[in-house]
Amino acid sequence: MIEDAQPKMYCVNHPNRETLLRCNRCERPICTECAVLTETGYRCRDCLRGQQKKFETAQWLDYPLALAVAGLLGFLGSLLTSFLGFFTIFLAPIAGVIIAEAVRSVTRKRRSRLLYNTATLAAGAGGAILPLINVLGIVMGLGMLNLFGLIWQVLYVVLVTSTVFYRLTGIRV
Ligand SMILES: [Zn+2]
Ligand SMILES: [Zn+2]
Repeated sequence: MIEDAQPKMYCVNHPNRETLLRCNRCERPICTECAVLTETGYRCRDCLRGQQKKFETAQWLDYPLALAVAGLLGFLGSLLTSFLGFFTIFLAPIAGVIIAEAVRSVTRKRRSRLLYNTATLAAGAGGAILPLINVLGIVMGLGMLNLFGLIWQVLYVVLVTSTVFYRLTGIRV
């Protein structure tokens, strides 16, 4: 009677495919189609999903917190644009950094892509209140057109949202 020295392995997802690969985390045999090459070697898709979940650490309370903090600070920062005028160009990115750090601290540096998007949108929405009121006033004939004021306010929104986003996601421009 002849026995194989090594029993044949079959992919956990494809029982009729013979394979020599194993996931280096859960050690289950996987075929080349099911294996994903990572920095640390071949992993099965289940283990990869687990890793991604671990990266997303945000809890549900972090979203309203980020929304409130980024929205409020975004709005307060936009109030400064009327004093700063041209200097908005330099001060808005600093405001963006402050907002991003404030969000990181209230959410205790918990992470998720959705959390970053929420904070960015909230900062933008907070900053957009003032220019919206301005435009609305002009449309309704209540205010005088303060074109420069409006330009700085809009510029502020653009700079603040991009700074908050890049600061939180860690992408450098
Ligand atoms: Zn695995
Ligand atoms: Zn497979």
